[in-house]
Amino acid sequence: MKPRPGLTITKIAMHDGISIFYAVWFNQPFIKKNIQPGINLFVTGKVDKGFGATQVMVEEYEVDDGGDSLSAGRLVPVYPLTGQLSQRQMRAMVKSALDGISDRAGEFLPASILEKFNLPQYEEALLKIHYPQRKEDADAARRRFIFEELFLFQLALATRKKSRFSREKAHRYLPEGDLLRSFIDNLPYRLTAGQEKVWDEISRDMDSTAPMHRLLQGDVGAGKTVISGMALLKAVESGLQGALMAPTEILAEQHYLGMKKAFSSIGVEAGLLTGGMRKKEKEILLERVRLGELKVLVGTHALIQEDVDFQRLGLAIVDEQHRFGVRQRAVLGYKGYCPDVLVMTATPIPRTLALTLYGDLDISVIDEMPPGRQPVITHAVLPHALAKAYGLIREHVRRGCQAYIVCPLVEESEKVDLRAAVELAESLAAGEFRDFRVGLLHGRMKSGEKEDVMSLFRGGEIKLLVSTTVIEVGVDVPNATVMVILDADRFGLAQLHQLRGRVGRGRRQSYCILVASPKTEEGRARLRVMTRTTDGFALAEEDLRLRGPGEFYGTRQAGLPEFKVADLLRDWKVLQVARGEAVACVAEDPRLEKEENRVLQKEIRARFGGAGSFIEIG
Ligand code: ADP
Ligand code: MG
Repeated sequence: MKPRPGLTITKIAMHDGISIFYAVWFNQPFIKKNIQPGINLFVTGKVDKGFGATQVMVEEYEVDDGGDSLSAGRLVPVYPLTGQLSQRQMRAMVKSALDGISDRAGEFLPASILEKFNLPQYEEALLKIHYPQRKEDADAARRRFIFEELFLFQLALATRKKSRFSREKAHRYLPEGDLLRSFIDNLPYRLTAGQEKVWDEISRDMDSTAPMHRLLQGDVGAGKTVISGMALLKAVESGLQGALMAPTEILAEQHYLGMKKAFSSIGVEAGLLTGGMRKKEKEILLERVRLGELKVLVGTHALIQEDVDFQRLGLAIVDEQHRFGVRQRAVLGYKGYCPDVLVMTATPIPRTLALTLYGDLDISVIDEMPPGRQPVITHAVLPHALAKAYGLIREHVRRGCQAYIVCPLVEESEKVDLRAAVELAESLAAGEFRDFRVGLLHGRMKSGEKEDVMSLFRGGEIKLLVSTTVIEVGVDVPNATVMVILDADRFGLAQLHQLRGRVGRGRRQSYCILVASPKTEEGRARLRVMTRTTDGFALAEEDLRLRGPGEFYGTRQAGLPEFKVADLLRDWKVLQVARGEAVACVAEDPRLEKEENRVLQKEIRARFGGAGSFIEIG
């Protein structure tokens, strides 16, 4: 039948034992050749009970040859396809593969675990995920594969952690001495209980014979820097060297200046190494590091270049570690023989993700803010309210405070954005804010220029800093109390949270004004969330929910593994259970050497290529 040019309809009358209906194919004239009158046929498709006779618009069909049907008359698998491959072909191939598995002893999960969680055996699960009798069978099979994937991954992390723990480091720390004690005594504040707790954990790690591999997590402004300073001093007073790496020049310099100030009274010198340094200067600095004269070296990723040699590196700290590539972290770790490694992050990672990404690290969390902090009051406004935001800045400057205006910078059009930032700073300095000093900061400025601007801002001479996101991480000027973020919908939640963390660092009430007219629902949702909470962990969970793990800020570079069946968002409870089981398993058999665990070991190797090629820290 050819009702229209280009359209062929093939109609075959079928009888289902009760009544007659028609199976209908579009544009598949060859069908007729496959189907002879009188055969048994399964068809699947939409049923149309329109005019008169019932019709089935056939999506799939299968000639019944008396065997098990693959495509029709039952629950059938639907596979992702590529190119010319059809479901029928895929099913046939999978079926023949499945027919071959029965002579393979496939199970590798411990029987106790299968029993405990009521999971089907490997082979059974394989058969049932493809060809379930009932939907519940498929669900059970799926549960097994999700568990299996997460369990093996956690097991790989746990064995790695365990094997590192059995290593012995070459250096030892002395009992707490005068340097550390007077540093703490000289602090203008007392450590919070949260800081005390993480310091306990960190110093205990350092005192242990096994190298430390610890992640220090704490929300923006929780006070991680001082902890890194204490760890560095512990190394120094034990005759060892310490290194602190930060992701931006501005932050490295800030750490350096902070330490210079705090360490000078106790006679400890720190050095600063950045990419922008003059050659001669750099040579002298590196020579002193090599000879061990300089005990503390702060820097950007310049720290991990080949020409940097330490005499005795005992401790390597990475600040804002989520900003570094996985390799960069690793290299800093290898600068000395098995140093203690502390990585710090202000981007709160949802616990579920932290378990996955850092399952081989110990985690310390600073779970409280220094006393007297008030949550930053956050408003999302449309661009026409900008004048009001500027009014707020003026009011705060009049009271002796300082402010930031952040302009977005997206890589693709960096030049255009940069020009916009420069022009904005100029026009604000000449207009709106002509009665006080306005500064400009962006990533393309020379190191020296950046340093000058930051020092003027830190010193309070510059009242308003117009900046790109170079100030996003780590910058600490407690006198700044207002932040206006332009085109705020162009930033991710984690980034907005980091930016907002530049204010609210003192006792005074701070404000964050998000200026935007978001075009997408997701953009609106993000801004809404920002106005509702200042809790970084809550925001991170929300971010994960809004964007999904793949897009989650920083996780790609942090090496989030891809799972085939498991989904971190959906299956986070399983992840936790799987982790518990993995840890218990490794506690009993650290190298998975027991007879019953050998298959597990083999499976991990096959999947992850040895005991840990996925995350390399230290
Ligand atoms: P982050 O955890 O974001 O790196 P910082 O280490 O930069 O935070 O600390 C934020 C601010 O809080 C700094 O100005 C620091 O001096 C101050 N601070 C840190 N610890 C305390 C404390 N226990 N009491 C009061 N202020 C503190
Ligand atoms: Mg910090």
